[in-house]
Amino acid sequence: MAVVECDVDVKRLKAKVLSGGKISKNEALELVDSELEELCGAADEIRERFCGNVFDFCSIINGKSGGCTENCKFCSQSAHHNTGIAKYSLIGESEASEGARYNFDRGVGRFAIVTAGRAMNDAEVDELCKNYESIGRTCGVFKCASHGLLRTEQLERLKQAGVRRYHSNLETSRSFFPNVCTTHSYDDKITTIKNAGSVGLEVCSGGIFGIGETMEDRIDMALDLRELGVKSVPVNILSPIPGTPLENNPILSGGEVRRIVAIYRFILPDAMIRMAGGRGLLDDKGESVFRSGSNAATTGDLLTTTGTGIDFDMALVKRLGYEAKFH
Ligand code: SF4
Repeated sequence: MAVVECDVDVKRLKAKVLSGGKISKNEALELVDSELEELCGAADEIRERFCGNVFDFCSIINGKSGGCTENCKFCSQSAHHNTGIAKYSLIGESEASEGARYNFDRGVGRFAIVTAGRAMNDAEVDELCKNYESIGRTCGVFKCASHGLLRTEQLERLKQAGVRRYHSNLETSRSFFPNVCTTHSYDDKITTIKNAGSVGLEVCSGGIFGIGETMEDRIDMALDLRELGVKSVPVNILSPIPGTPLENNPILSGGEVRRIVAIYRFILPDAMIRMAGGRGLLDDKGESVFRSGSNAATTGDLLTTTGTGIDFDMALVKRLGYEAKFH
């Protein structure tokens, strides 16, 4: 894609990243006030250098909905909020494997079961393992899992059932985290991520933006993800849900989202920066962020908010010069 002329700070920091250097927190903060198009063009170059034109799609199914004991302010599934969403217990093997097969047959290489709740008990982990084994018998999809703050032995069982990657979002910075959740901690999240890594699972971890955090909070989280070696980073845009404490938060502008993604690309040059929940809120459904450093997305229907369709997304990334495959 086109080489872009950048202003001094962007150009200098782009050269640093392209030559294998790591930018510091202060350098990342310099990018906050840079000219947007120059920043995004530079991020696109970094993405192309480190990741090529591969685009990584994943899909998810809501495996257990609502009634969560935790009080995350942004979440429709917390029992602390009155959102009127459907509640159900763990889905069974046929629903899980049919969901995986549906997405796999349409070219989506990854599939995750995502469950509401602080964690899963051992009986639930047993059920989930049956689901993942059933998916493995049904199709060759790459299996990911998101089941809260699991213990090492539980994560090991998931791995034995064929799960390759575990998802646990940091959500935001360490310092801002207590403003959005008080029933568990940032360190609980870090422990889970380290537990997953310790049993040989890959890790997917990112956060949610538009919850009242500052650009410095966003940068702090990206630096922690870099420190943890995370290579798949979901970017969720808050969809303010009636009945949650954040129901009146303004929706982030497309330009703000592009800036977040571009700065993340500078900090995490070889990661898959994945547009997840809330992409459908953007006027162009993500087209401009896929030219600003993002090279991955969740497609299909997302948890309790509607995403974009697989056919639409496949055509979009192809038009942008990407090849949809996972690696
Ligand atoms: S732990 Fe997960 S499901 Fe529960 S409220 Fe927080 S984000 Fe929602």
